[in-house]
Amino acid sequence: MDIQLFLPTFHVEECLQEIRECLEKGWTGAGFKTVAFEEAWGKYTDLPYAHFVNSATAGLHLAVHVLKNRLNWKDGDEIITTPLTFVSTNHVILYENLKPVFADVDEYICLDPVDMQNKLTRKTRAVMFVGMGGNPGQYEKIVEICRQNALALILDAAHMAGTRLNAKHIGKEADVSVFSFQAVKPLPTADSGMVCFSLPEDDQLARKLTWLGINKDTYSRTVSGGAYKWMYEVEHIGFKYHGNSIMAAIALVQLKYLDQDNAYRRKLTDWYIERLQGQNLIQIVPTAPGCESTRHLFQILVDYRDELILALNECGVYPGVHYRDNTEYSMYQYASGTCPRAHDISCKILSLPLHLRMTKSDVDRVSELVVKHAGKLLRPNKK
Ligand SMILES: *Cc1c(COP(=O)(O)O)cnc(C)c1O
Repeated sequence: MDIQLFLPTFHVEECLQEIRECLEKGWTGAGFKTVAFEEAWGKYTDLPYAHFVNSATAGLHLAVHVLKNRLNWKDGDEIITTPLTFVSTNHVILYENLKPVFADVDEYICLDPVDMQNKLTRKTRAVMFVGMGGNPGQYEKIVEICRQNALALILDAAHMAGTRLNAKHIGKEADVSVFSFQAVKPLPTADSGMVCFSLPEDDQLARKLTWLGINKDTYSRTVSGGAYKWMYEVEHIGFKYHGNSIMAAIALVQLKYLDQDNAYRRKLTDWYIERLQGQNLIQIVPTAPGCESTRHLFQILVDYRDELILALNECGVYPGVHYRDNTEYSMYQYASGTCPRAHDISCKILSLPLHLRMTKSDVDRVSELVVKHAGKLLRPNKK
């Protein structure tokens, strides 16, 4: 049996029941289930505002856009960010004509607070922090530095639905945190996300912008009634970023199982650690102390990574890479060479298969193959 990197697991009957309610009611858009899910998410995370959008990319763009607006950032102002992430983290900075300035990563493969400070300039306005694989790295230090330097903090929490730090759900410390509910993330739907601002005025503006700048949503107009329920005002050039009730229906069900699912992912990674710890060709990426990670990823560093992937594929095991150093992409080449550690890690990093349908014996099998092939690859006629 093949072992894939990810395999989303849904509580099918319960999801269908929630979706059925939408279809029978005749309401699949924004409102109804999206409102219920925003409430449920707020309760689960204890974040003050939760706004459901159609992807984390949309949420991240709104985050940058709203902060730029309120804090009066100018085109060309800088946001410090990481080169080891999914490109949407950095694209959203460019959407707003701001400049991604890359700082290097630490041993957790998250933004390194020391290099982050080295990259500060008079134009720095914010920091974008990515919790790699659910791991907060040295997030608390970054929070501190942002406060000292009056910088905004955006948390790309795409991997962090359910990550707790010192027993509290992550996100409150940032000006805005953004979660992904894309199919392979810890809380899978098909595509959706949540943007959680810490200030009410940011949340209010974001809610208008999410549906083309229109000041009332269709759902409240439908429920409220009256002769002028068709009437609305358009105050901003907004976007088509809102989430819909079908995605929210799935999310409502999946949220009930999120803690249980994350706990099982941690169990799988504990088994990996048991098997791979102390193997001298394999370096396990550590998890920061004091955190309960979602364990979206289990990452190791190996030499001959690409050869190892091919060898594992031949045995029906399909690992992944998170991520290629973004400064290697032509889009971000201007920053090439500015983050040597990220560059080095980018050639060695490997995410081993990790999903809820895996068993201990799957972990054993993958680990055994990794150890065996990593050892073999050391010997070929290469230096
Ligand atoms: C998946 C991901 C995103 C984007 O999420 P979508 O919901 O697919 O838009 C952003 N940042 C990181 C780190 C991700 O892994």
